[in-house]
Amino acid sequence: MADQIRPKWALVAHGGAGAISRGQLSPEQEVAYRDAMAVAADAGAAVLRAGGSAMDAVEAAIHLLEDDPLFNAGRGAAFTAEGRNELDASIMDGATLGAGAVAGVTTTRHPISAARAVIEGSTHVMLGGEGADAFARSQGLEQVDPSYFFTERRWLALEKGLARLGLPIPARPTGAPQDLSGKAALVHEEGKYGTVGVVALDAHGDVAAGTSTGGSSAKRWGRVGDSPIIGAGTYASNKGCAVSCTGAGEYFIRLGVAHEICALVRHKGLSLQAAADQVIQGELTALGGDGGVICVAPDGQMAWSFNTPGMYRARIADGEPLVVGVYKDET
Ligand code: ASP
Repeated sequence: MADQIRPKWALVAHGGAGAISRGQLSPEQEVAYRDAMAVAADAGAAVLRAGGSAMDAVEAAIHLLEDDPLFNAGRGAAFTAEGRNELDASIMDGATLGAGAVAGVTTTRHPISAARAVIEGSTHVMLGGEGADAFARSQGLEQVDPSYFFTERRWLALEKGLARLGLPIPARPTGAPQDLSGKAALVHEEGKYGTVGVVALDAHGDVAAGTSTGGSSAKRWGRVGDSPIIGAGTYASNKGCAVSCTGAGEYFIRLGVAHEICALVRHKGLSLQAAADQVIQGELTALGGDGGVICVAPDGQMAWSFNTPGMYRARIADGEPLVVGVYKDET
C-alpha cells in the first residue's frame, strides 16, 4: 500500500522556527522568506528529479540557504557574545549511516560541505574549531574572511541581546561591510532563529538529512547547540526516517529529538507525523523547549511539526506541488 503511493522522491526544508507571527513580518519580508524557501527547495528538487542522491540534494539546497543573509546559517549567522560568527553543521546519509559534523567553524563558506567532507575525507564524525576549518581547507573547500558572514541585522540583534544581558558590546569586527543589501534591514526578531535544514528521499529510496546554523545569538564559552550533534539536531536512517531540527538546541540535545523521532517510526511503527508530533508537541513542550522539525521517510511520507508561532518551511515531491509555509495556521 505504502509502496503504491510512494513518490519517487521528496524533499522538505526549514529556515528556522520561532516567534514568527502575523503582523511581525512586513509583506516584503514575508515574500522574501517565502521566495528563499521556494528557491532552495526547488534547487534540491532539481537534483532529485535528475536522479541525483538525497545527500547531493540536501547539500545543494543548504548551500543556497547558507548564502542567503536572511537565514542564521553561513552568511547571516548569529554572533557570539564576543562578536564572532562560529558556525555549526551536520549531515547524515540514511543509506550508510555515514555522518559528518563541524562545530565552531569561522572561515569555511559552506559548513554543510565541511560536514559532508568529514564523512568522505576522514575517519571521524565530528570536528571542532580551528581544526575543522583546517580540515575543510585541506579538502579544497572555499575559505572566506570571517567578515564574509557579517550582516548588520544580526549585529543589531547581538547588541540588543547583550544589552539585555548586561554584557559589554564588542568592537565591530574588522572588515565588517556596510549594510548595502537591503535584506539586512529585516530585523524582526533577536537573531535567535533562522537555522536551516533539509531532508530528502531520492529515487533510489535513500534518505538524508542536513542542518546548518550560526547557533544562538550572544552565545558564550564555545557553546555548541544541537545542529551539529548527530541524533539531536540531525539524523537519517533508511530504517526509520530523516530529520532536521531547529529551536532551543539545549532541549533538543537533552531529548535526542532527531533520533527519537526515527526510533518511534522504526520500533513503534508510528506514522511520521505522529512520531514528530509526539516528540515536538509532547516531549519537547513538556520539557519547556521550543522549536520544530522536518522529516521524510523512505516510503515518501513527509512531515513537519513545531510548537512556535511559525517556522519557515517548504516541501515538494514527485508529482506534488511545492508548498511553502511560514505561520502555524498554514498547511
Ligand atoms: N538549534 C539551533 C541551536 O541551538 C538554533 C536554532 O535552530 O534556532 O544552535
